[in-house]
Amino acid sequence: MDSFEQLACWAFNCDRAQLYTGDYAADEENIQLFHDALDSYARGIPVQYITGEAEFMGFDFDVNPSVLIPRPETEILVERVLTLIEREGISEPSILDLGTGSGAIAVSLTKLSPSCKMVASDVSEEALEVGRENAAANGVGDRIEFILSDLFERIPGRRKFDLVISNPPYVPSEDYDSLPPEVRSEPKIALDGGQKGLEFYKKIIPDAAKRLDRGGYLILEIGYGQARAIKDLFESAGSYGDIEILKDYNDIDRIVFAKRR
Ligand code: GLN
Repeated sequence: MDSFEQLACWAFNCDRAQLYTGDYAADEENIQLFHDALDSYARGIPVQYITGEAEFMGFDFDVNPSVLIPRPETEILVERVLTLIEREGISEPSILDLGTGSGAIAVSLTKLSPSCKMVASDVSEEALEVGRENAAANGVGDRIEFILSDLFERIPGRRKFDLVISNPPYVPSEDYDSLPPEVRSEPKIALDGGQKGLEFYKKIIPDAAKRLDRGGYLILEIGYGQARAIKDLFESAGSYGDIEILKDYNDIDRIVFAKRR
């Protein structure tokens, strides 16, 4: 569905077929809703914030402007993590999703890897609230532990993980102002990755080494043109090997896997 259809179906509470056969009720309230939706859309508000819904890995997520809208590229990350768990034969994997936002990664992995033990953290209380709601709505509310934490700050130090996953903010601060208005209506705190967009990786890569079990993996989503620098960060951390970089649907380096030695 295109954006127009999505907004119409949402406002008139119908599906796409019903929309085109006129099989929907359009009372004053629906019409007003549609009108306001188009108005917001024209002002650069993303469809997902207008409807409050986004789909990820075939699951439904509530979103609002305190969380990033889940992206299709991130589905590649989730799929490859599932493959990794299977390939390495990790039973009951303990996983940390750092900066979970809407909970897209944590919730879908928990749904698709029924034996995993998931911890999901975020620095934003509002985001954590959205993540919790999404976990509950997808039936995994009791299987994910949500922790309010600035990166690893409040993740109990004694805990070790098989996998640490993060899609941190990675847009270079220098580029933030030239992002399209839709993207700028997402939380800046989830996008602005500081100088060259690398500030979060500089913290996560060395710190994750202390939180990973030997043989565990750090899995990161990265931004355009950052693969070289990220590889260097892994190499200078000294405790990782088997670095693998995967491309997204646009042939851009997007996901990095590194094994804790
Ligand atoms: N993928 C987002 C974008 O398109 C950035 C997400 C992030 O910083 N983690 O701008």
